[in-house]
Amino acid sequence: MADKFKVPMSSPDLTEAERRAVAQVLDTPRLSMGPELAAFEAALAATAGVAHAVAVSSGTAALHLCVRAAGLGVGDLVLTTPFSFVASANALLYERAIPVFVDVDLQTGNIDPEQVAAAAADLAAGDQEARRWLPRRSPDPAGRLKALLTVDVFGQPADYGKLKRTAEQHGLTVLEDSSESLGAAYRGLPAGGLGEAGVFAFYPNKQITTGEGGAVVTDREDWAEHMRSLRNQGRSQTDGWLEHTQLGYNYRLDELSAALGRAQLERLEELLLRREQVAGWYQARLGGLAQVELPELSEGTTRPSWFVYVVRLSGGVERARVIRALEQDGIPSRAYFTPIHLQPYMVERFGYRPGDFPVTEELGDRSLALPFSGVMTEAQVDLVGESLERTTTRPGGN
Ligand SMILES: *Cc1c(COP(=O)(O)O)cnc(C)c1O
Repeated sequence: MADKFKVPMSSPDLTEAERRAVAQVLDTPRLSMGPELAAFEAALAATAGVAHAVAVSSGTAALHLCVRAAGLGVGDLVLTTPFSFVASANALLYERAIPVFVDVDLQTGNIDPEQVAAAAADLAAGDQEARRWLPRRSPDPAGRLKALLTVDVFGQPADYGKLKRTAEQHGLTVLEDSSESLGAAYRGLPAGGLGEAGVFAFYPNKQITTGEGGAVVTDREDWAEHMRSLRNQGRSQTDGWLEHTQLGYNYRLDELSAALGRAQLERLEELLLRREQVAGWYQARLGGLAQVELPELSEGTTRPSWFVYVVRLSGGVERARVIRALEQDGIPSRAYFTPIHLQPYMVERFGYRPGDFPVTEELGDRSLALPFSGVMTEAQVDLVGESLERTTTRPGGN
């Protein structure tokens, strides 16, 4: 199966520096909760321009800790986007908070700040106005609007200027899922540091990897301390190994992973530049294709961080056929994202239907992620480009 493809969908970018960093940990007796974790966290906090980082076992775990630290619980309403990887909404469901979806901006795929402002005002007004935004049904009764969980889609930060004005007006906590935007900047400010807390993720397809892993970055010392306890089975800083002040989890990141992450983070600038170069090759190769729209950067994105390369197919092009044709040429590709509100368990729980979030659904129908990584060669980009060109310009092929 694996070698049916000539180009991998994604690849980590690893060097001798990473191998050495991991091997050095194996020469010590500390495989968890040691100096690599502390050093990785310090570097992550600096990258996001904040005081604290808490590294954990996945991006999803990091999101869950944010939800816990923000005190979100049963019935609390949280404005968020249906155009994301499911983990952002799932973190709310773990605590039985209610995601209140708001549709996205067509250009960036990020949550639409005008609609967020309208939703916050309507939810504050209550009754009829509020009902427009709430799910058709919910296992828990709707409580108060408490927070805004944004997602920086495909490596571009959401429009935080407008979003934060709304959040201030309505007393909302802003949580930033920056799992796809490590190294990006919004109007000169680093991603991850744009909300009360931000989340990074280090799965192998992300800009840097630890195998599995994630982190929360925040200026809130009280939150950082709370999250350090929660990730470590609820032990407080002064608890012994078998003392547990509160209900916690095992969300720890081991030393091997932290060492790998630290070595990757030291190369962040190089990794981002390589990804930018590959995106540039795609731009040049696909620029003339009539049926293919290329990703556009918004004005607020003063530095993009390319996570994936996602194009949009024109209205008349049948995406499933394009995916099959690319596959026959040995090129993998993916529909990206499938809207969260239409995932079976979300439909069952909240009664969502097709048509509820039209922009998200349009993007979900037309978006196609192409193979992408910082180690891709120009020849590989050409191969993808040729195949896509042949497939989308085939006479009568749509
Ligand atoms: C990758 C990602 C996550 C976290 O994923 P994990 O696999 O749990 O590390 C969360 N949100 C978004 C938007 C992501 O892309």
